Amino acid sequence: MITEFSKAQNQIKSGQATVKSRVEYFLKRIEEFDGELNSFITITGEEALKKAEQMDTLFSEKGEEVFEKMPLFGLVFSAKDMYLTEGVKTTAGSKLLSDFVPPYSSTVISRLTEAGAILIGKTNQDAWAHGSSGENSDFGVTKNPWDKSRVPGGSSSGAAVSVAAGFCDFAMGTDTGGSVRLPASFTNVVGLKPTYGAISRYGVIAMASSLDTMGNFAISSSDSKKIFDIVKGQDGFDQTVLDVNGAAPKTKYTIGVPKQYFSEGMDPSVERLVLDAIEKISQMGHKVVEVELPSTDYAISAYYVICPAEVSSNLGRYDGVRMGLNRDAFGDEAKRRIMLGTYVLESGYVDAYYNKAVAVRDLIKSEFEQAFSKVDLMLAPVSPTLPFKLGEKSNDPLSMYLADVYTVAINIAGVCALSVPCGFSDDLPVGLQIIGPSFGEQMVFDLA
Ligand code: GLN
Repeated sequence: MITEFSKAQNQIKSGQATVKSRVEYFLKRIEEFDGELNSFITITGEEALKKAEQMDTLFSEKGEEVFEKMPLFGLVFSAKDMYLTEGVKTTAGSKLLSDFVPPYSSTVISRLTEAGAILIGKTNQDAWAHGSSGENSDFGVTKNPWDKSRVPGGSSSGAAVSVAAGFCDFAMGTDTGGSVRLPASFTNVVGLKPTYGAISRYGVIAMASSLDTMGNFAISSSDSKKIFDIVKGQDGFDQTVLDVNGAAPKTKYTIGVPKQYFSEGMDPSVERLVLDAIEKISQMGHKVVEVELPSTDYAISAYYVICPAEVSSNLGRYDGVRMGLNRDAFGDEAKRRIMLGTYVLESGYVDAYYNKAVAVRDLIKSEFEQAFSKVDLMLAPVSPTLPFKLGEKSNDPLSMYLADVYTVAINIAGVCALSVPCGFSDDLPVGLQIIGPSFGEQMVFDLA
């Protein structure tokens, strides 16, 4: 069964479970339930079982010392199909890459594997990570296990569902504008968007390089922290990564609630659950104060200029010559972003659009810095709405973009945030966002 890491590992230590029996259990669940949920694109069952057998042998030879050397020993994970996996097909959710088998693995995958975790499969996602619902995948939509008529959130749709439905112990996703936090919130799991520059992007298919971060999904914040601690830090391949020890946990925090994150149009039941959670946190003795992030209103506009600009550049490498099919295989959303991005970078428009968006980015960054000079952490909703119906926004790109209203500014500012479950409304999960300063993950995990 899916339990916290320590419990799962204790079962192996005590002989109640073997690594192989755990992999078999997950594979059986996937077989039984994923036909309908569609969270996986590729299942690596055979390799996983082989690896599990080797690990059981290792444990029988070396005993508990394996858990010291490999902190994730015996745990099973899935990875969004953005992560290159040596010898395992990697599609980015697009049929353009339907036959692409990478010759090497990303740093994140290598570190997890070295730490003893076993990859069980590659998960479904919005193609190229463009989207908020999972509906942009070329491999079919992923359904929300809490209500199969609803979206699980995107773009790391399958990764979130693989944990929420108990198909593995944890999952890796990517978050460029909310793609870990939104699906975490919609499926009632914990989802981390790390600080930009905390984790190497090496070997992960690029969406918007100045915003892309390598996030994870788990059933508890302490598990999420364990994953983060394994994958973070320099690898010599991504020059934006820094080895920084951010602020250490405290016993009491000063917590800001940004006024602009409770805007009109927000679902009242979401607002109530988030405010209740904030109230409980304040009753625990933390000091809660209101803060201002005045440029919040411009975050979506700035994001949907900067992101397509970088997308148009990154997708330039898929020319049908070096890998994948030719450019006809791009879906509507990728084409929309390539055109939009090319447009805002054109010499006649670059000052009006791209350069303005970059100026707004600087403003947003400095507003976050100012807020974090007064508070340790901030609390906010993740999404203004409950998980929406399949098909509800898929023909209206603009309303889909607005689903990210509370998440994109965090990517623009480069800081970290964790989505944690904070209750249910109409049997649908709601997430609370704990936002920390750059490299403030340890405080965020501590409060969570
Ligand atoms: N929904 C946002 C977008 O479509 C965020 C995507 C992401 O974080 N990968 O751009």
